[in-house]
Amino acid sequence: MLNGRSAVVTGSTSGIGLGIARALAEAGCNLMLNGFGPPSAIERECTQLEKEFDVRVAFNPADLANAQQVVGLIEAAARELGAVDILVNNAGIQYTARIEEFPADRWDAVIAVNLSACFHAIQAVLPQMRARNWGRLINIASTHGLVASTEKSAYVAAKHGLVGLTKAVALETAESGITCNAICSGWVLTPLVEAQIEERADRENVSFERAKMDLVAQKQPSREFVTPEQIGAAVVFLCSDAAAQIRGAALPIDGGWTSQ
Ligand code: NAD
Repeated sequence: MLNGRSAVVTGSTSGIGLGIARALAEAGCNLMLNGFGPPSAIERECTQLEKEFDVRVAFNPADLANAQQVVGLIEAAARELGAVDILVNNAGIQYTARIEEFPADRWDAVIAVNLSACFHAIQAVLPQMRARNWGRLINIASTHGLVASTEKSAYVAAKHGLVGLTKAVALETAESGITCNAICSGWVLTPLVEAQIEERADRENVSFERAKMDLVAQKQPSREFVTPEQIGAAVVFLCSDAAAQIRGAALPIDGGWTSQ
C-alpha cells in the first residue's frame, strides 16, 4: 500500500517505534530509523527489516533533545532515502515525581524530546511535503495528552502540547494533501513502562507480575495492554487514502481508559 514511500520514525530502536517501523516496512515503506541502543543490535534490526520486507532501511543516531540534530535527521533521511513522505514523531521519555520534587532539568528534557523535537521535525519536513502536495505527520501522544495522572507533570504537559500542535498543523495544512494526526495510546508493555512497573513493585512490595496487572487494571477497563503492532497498524491506516480527511484527530487506542 505504501510502496515507494519513505518514512522517518523517531525513537524506533525500541518499543512502540520499532512496532511502527515494522508495520510501515511491511506496507512497503523505506525507512529512516532513529534512537539510542547498542550499534550492533540496531544494525541487526535494520538488516532484518530490509531482508524481511524488501525495503531500504537507514539509521541516524540524532539526539532529539538537540534541535539542530532533529533538523539533521530530516536532512539525512531526505538525502539517503530521496524524500520524506511520512514522519512519525514517536521518541519519548518519562520521569515521575511529585511537582515539588520534580527536577527542573528533567522537566526541560521531557519537554525537549516529547514536544519541541516534534515541532522542529515538522518544521524541517513540511517544505518538501508541500512541494509534492502529499504527506503524513503522525504524532505519538498518549492518553496523557487527553487526561492527567499524578507525578507526571512534564509528560502530561508535553503530551497535551503535542495534541495542540497536531491540531494547529492540521489546520495550516488543511487545504493540502498533507494530514497531521495524533495517536493517544494507553499502556503498552515497553521498556518505558517496565521501569514504572518495577518502581510500583518495589513501592508496594509485590511481584513484577502483580504490579503489571495492577497498573493496567487501574487505568484500562479492558485490563489488557495495547500492543506495538496495534499502534503500527493504526499508523499505516492513517497513511492510507481512506484516512485522507482525518485531520487534527487525537485517536485514543487505550482499552477504554479515556472513556471513563
Ligand atoms: P521506549 O523507551 O521503549 O522507546 C523510546 C524510544 O525513543 C527508544 O528508541 C529510545 O532510544 C528513543 N529515544 C529516547 N530519547 C531519545 C532522544 N533524546 N533522541 C533520540 N531517540 C530517543 O518507549 P515507548 O514506550 O516505546 O514509547 C514510545 C512513545 O510512545 C513515546 O513518545 C511515549 O511517550 C509514547 N507512549 C508510550 C506508552 C506506553 O505505555 N509505553 C503509552 C502512551 C504513549
